[in-house]
Amino acid sequence: MNDGHQHDDEHVQCKVCLKEIPLSEAKSAEATEYVAHYCGLDCYEKWMEKAAEDQESK
Ligand SMILES: [Zn+2]
Repeated sequence: MNDGHQHDDEHVQCKVCLKEIPLSEAKSAEATEYVAHYCGLDCYEKWMEKAAEDQESK
């Protein structure tokens, strides 16, 4: 029976600094075909800036 507790040993890798972080603490952003995870807003913003640059240079 599911009492609402989640596994907290699940980890994901930060898309920017590649640090392993618990899924429950990860920030995530839905990209076009996948979900990217970040250890915090700093990395999230870094990635967003880079993504914006990539799009502009196209
Ligand atoms: Zn990070």
